[in-house]
Amino acid sequence: MIEIKNLHKSFGDLMVLKGVDLKVESGEVVVIIGPSGSGKSTVLRCINKLEEPTSGSIIVDGYDIMDPKTDINMVRTEATMVFQQFNLFPHMTVLDNVTLGPIKVRGLPRADANKLGLDLLAKVGLAEKPNSYPEQLSGGQKQRVAIARSLALQPKAILFDEPTSALDPELVGEVLEVMKQLAREGMTMIVVTHEMGFAKEVADRVIFIDEGKVQVDAEPEAFFANPENPRLRDFLGKVV
Ligand code: ADP
Ligand code: MG
Repeated sequence: MIEIKNLHKSFGDLMVLKGVDLKVESGEVVVIIGPSGSGKSTVLRCINKLEEPTSGSIIVDGYDIMDPKTDINMVRTEATMVFQQFNLFPHMTVLDNVTLGPIKVRGLPRADANKLGLDLLAKVGLAEKPNSYPEQLSGGQKQRVAIARSLALQPKAILFDEPTSALDPELVGEVLEVMKQLAREGMTMIVVTHEMGFAKEVADRVIFIDEGKVQVDAEPEAFFANPENPRLRDFLGKVV
């Protein structure tokens, strides 16, 4: 579904990614962990070209995103992004936030988009909230709206960038629960998170990024049991 080869990304003189390789199969859940500033967000942002890769290749569902002929808006609907700060439109209702993409990008008639939107809001436990505005919601509710909005594009994969990091601790669980449900339904997901419980329970593979490269790529059991990589041992010692 997603194949990244030898990805390099520099910001000016700062080379953040120094040859990242990552392959995600359809239906896989891959969790990315790593120190702050190690380039986790940059990897996700390169996948849907919110950042322009410096070099390397990225294939999303068969589309080469570096090929100038590839329609990047199409790639962004194939692999949608869920952000730490939700990024909802404050002046739009919850339902309009969810239906905007299908109407604008997929050309769905409003009535069909509304039906889809209401179904998706029910799926994330917000059937009661279509006419609320984002500011009337808790952080956990906002993030669930953001997930419904992503799903409304009918993506092949969802990229989560620390989706629970901005939430009060008591609201983290409700968002993780929705993500677990998506994983069970077979959604392809890349999740940057510090939630090690989620990684252990849900991930098919866990990736440790440090110093611009994938340092460890393993199934959760092996990843957490007895890490040989000293920097991963050090990192886990700090976060777990
Ligand atoms: P992480 O998500 O792992 O915390 P990021 O991918 O956000 O790390 O950032 C990696 C490095 O790249 C950091 O040093 C950050 O300051 C830098 N960086 C990220 N985005 C930009 C940008 N748009 N311009 C300049 N530097 C950036
Ligand atoms: Mg980040």
